[in-house]
Amino acid sequence: MSSTNSNYPEIREAVAKLCSNFPGEYWRALDDTSTYPTEFVQALTDAGFLSVLIPEEYGGAGLPIEAGCVILEEIQRSGCNGGACHAQMYTMGTLLRHGTEEQKKKYLPGIAEGSLRLQAFGVTEPTSGTDTTRIRTMAVRDGDDYIINGQKVFISRTEHSDLMVLLVRTTPRDECKKPSDGMSVFLVDMRECLGKGLTINPIKTMINHSTTELFFDDMRVPAANMLGAEGKGFKCILDGMNAERILIASECIGDARFFIERASAYACEREVFGRPIGQNQGIQFPIARAYIETEAAALMVYNAANLFDEGTPCGSEANMSKMIASEAAWHAADTCLQTHGGFGYTQEYDIERKFRETRLYQTAPISTNLILSHVGIHELGMPKSF
Ligand SMILES: Cc1cc2nc3c(=O)[nH]c(=O)nc-3n(C[C@H](O)[C@H](O)[C@H](O)COP(=O)(O)OP(=O)(O)OC[C@H]3O[C@@H](n4cnc5c(N)ncnc54)[C@H](O)[C@@H]3O)c2cc1C
Repeated sequence: MSSTNSNYPEIREAVAKLCSNFPGEYWRALDDTSTYPTEFVQALTDAGFLSVLIPEEYGGAGLPIEAGCVILEEIQRSGCNGGACHAQMYTMGTLLRHGTEEQKKKYLPGIAEGSLRLQAFGVTEPTSGTDTTRIRTMAVRDGDDYIINGQKVFISRTEHSDLMVLLVRTTPRDECKKPSDGMSVFLVDMRECLGKGLTINPIKTMINHSTTELFFDDMRVPAANMLGAEGKGFKCILDGMNAERILIASECIGDARFFIERASAYACEREVFGRPIGQNQGIQFPIARAYIETEAAALMVYNAANLFDEGTPCGSEANMSKMIASEAAWHAADTCLQTHGGFGYTQEYDIERKFRETRLYQTAPISTNLILSHVGIHELGMPKSF
């Protein structure tokens, strides 16, 4: 075992044990019918793994983000898919860091015990794309409520979540001093809004990810559900995004480990031309290279996690670790597929499913080009291109 996967050994062992009850057949059946992994998510909830980051005073385990990383890494390493529920772990961070005491007491204990699901995070819109400051969904104050109109796209797990953290505009962009001003965050209780201004439509994608498009048509949300100050919503979601990127980076590390372990095992056992294919350096070296890349990426992920846990600003580290880990996973996926020859394409090996799943992380939650641009501008001082 390498030093990059020896932290929290008890948690690793417990997660691996739980995941062994959800083998490839389980995920393949869900994939065929685009069904949500309800039993898997319930098992993780019952074991307390999804509430580890919630402080003890609100019913969680109060562990550092590094523990969350370990959990997601082991889920992916075992061949399962944490994408179905990873947001239950970190979306609450916006509420925890920016909510009032009253809001935290109202929601966090339910989220911690699993009776309340907060695993939807609504930012992306069809017309704004990555340029978040151009979102158009607008909330207008009306007495004790806000009335929300607009549209979101690719908002995952809304059909399996009670609550959603939603980013909207409360002041039009052209009336603000800075483009990032004038946005606000609401904690939307979707149980109250569904059919009353909120419409959810599933979007079929190349992976089983329960993603949806949302339409808001005069949807009423109590003003009491605003998180943080009006107009300061962009700041509120930024530190949550760092947590998201670090945790998703560790999912990528888990995916990479899955592919490398499968590839090296197959390379030892498959014999062609009278010897194991792994004896050929054309097969052995790409797997070794993928392993080295993964180890390097894991160091960056755990460095970002430690900075986050210390409270040190870590925007660049979170972004860089997500980028390098998603690329390590993708290279490992490609190598694993190639190592398996034709069998890699068959569903029963689970390689093609994981191959599709791990591709997402170069696009979401933030695409590679946007990370390169962040580093070029903020770390290297080069001019902004947009
Ligand atoms: C399965 C899935 C689940 C998702 N879940 C969620 C969710 O739960 N919540 C949520 O809010 N969003 C979610 N998303 C959305 C995701 O975060 C976005 O797709 C992603 O951020 C990219 O935005 P976009 O699709 O609008 O691409 P665009 O912004 O249209 O960009 C298209 C391409 O152009 C590149 N590009 C754009 N501008 C530049 C530039 N200036 N320089 C260089 N390259 C550029 C981008 O990097 C990208 O590769 C999800 C997406 C998917 C596919």
